[in-house]
Amino acid sequence: MDKGKRRMKGPFENSLKQLAGVRKIIKMDDNIYAQLQSPQRFLEVSIPVRMDNGSIRVFTGYRSQYNDARGPFKGGIRFHTTVSVSEVKALSAWMTWKTAVVDIPLGGAKGGVIVDHKELSDMELERLSRGYIRAIYKIIGPELDIPAPDVYTDPRVMGWMLDEYEKIVGHHAPGVITGKPLSIGGSKVREYSTAQGAVYALMEGAKKIGLKKGSTVAIQGFGNAGSHVASLLQDLGYKITVVSDSTGTVVNSMGMDMKELKNYKEKTGSVANYPGSEEVGEKNCLTQDADILIPAALEGVITEKIARGIKAKMIVELANGPIIPEADEILEKKNILVIPDILANAGGVIVSYFEQIQNAYGYYWQEQEILEKLEEKIKKAFDEIWENKENYGTTLRMGAYALAVKRVSEAMKDRGWG
Ligand code: GLU
Repeated sequence: MDKGKRRMKGPFENSLKQLAGVRKIIKMDDNIYAQLQSPQRFLEVSIPVRMDNGSIRVFTGYRSQYNDARGPFKGGIRFHTTVSVSEVKALSAWMTWKTAVVDIPLGGAKGGVIVDHKELSDMELERLSRGYIRAIYKIIGPELDIPAPDVYTDPRVMGWMLDEYEKIVGHHAPGVITGKPLSIGGSKVREYSTAQGAVYALMEGAKKIGLKKGSTVAIQGFGNAGSHVASLLQDLGYKITVVSDSTGTVVNSMGMDMKELKNYKEKTGSVANYPGSEEVGEKNCLTQDADILIPAALEGVITEKIARGIKAKMIVELANGPIIPEADEILEKKNILVIPDILANAGGVIVSYFEQIQNAYGYYWQEQEILEKLEEKIKKAFDEIWENKENYGTTLRMGAYALAVKRVSEAMKDRGWG
């Protein structure tokens, strides 16, 4: 059983534990290590929002700017009830390692608002999105910090946020935010880039351990990333046998049709009880039989207990931080290959970076060109982290951390921060 005390640990503590782990395998300068223990800047804001009934509700929001040694801070904004100081800090640290591991010239940040978006009308959601930007506009900018979508924020929200920022500064600045609608400077592929990047990483991992294309896949979470990865993998010949969302887990060992499942979810609001499948309950997704497991929801879901029950041969972390460090150790002993989040879900920020380049030039690329560039970036990073894993005799996560932290440290030293 997991110990209650351990379960209390926040995501930021877990991210620091991962950093301490990498410190053991690479020679990390003490001065650098000390600076990597906390964000460079952390802002907490109150956002008063006029509700449709005339009352004012005050929401709490955050922006954590972890490290900008390699370039402007970069990272999404999450609208969720579980947003907390610890979560936002952890996510901003993970963004720092993510941009470094795929070698794009950006730092790491993250933002969030504590809100249940389902309780808000469209007008209230727009006022909250604009209010968040009014609260943080002084610390963001195309060359300072560039937000993007994350859990429960989407292109529409990015459109409102961009508009609010441009109204405040009085000129166009499309590069201040990525994941925008195409009509106002968004990039092709961005909508499914996180999933696409995960597919490229998954295929590299599958080659290493000899998994065939007809392999079975379990996906936890059927939001933007989860549903896109499901369709992309089905098109490639993988069999999606397990899918869950916050209401249930559906299982069919013959594989399910993702188009039909998406339509079903659109109609009913959830995947639960999808006809022709067995409903096993939301909590039981991660330990079902499947060759590949893709957690695509929130952090901290794979605890020690869950790790012991996992049957998959490979885990692809489409969510940020789904595996706690103690569970990682168990998975390593069980010889399960974990493709770490900072590579597996980096497709989103890579295409965000491409979006910024297109914004800076005012010239927009075709879908194929972006896909080729994305694939190249993921494959190169995969090879590099695999090399680090072999060289240090460690896990793929620690191989990725070694590479990322070395890159961030080098930039910090070159700036004279060492
Ligand atoms: N929210 C995404 C992530 O966690 C994308 C961030 C971005 O594009 O800046 O990687």
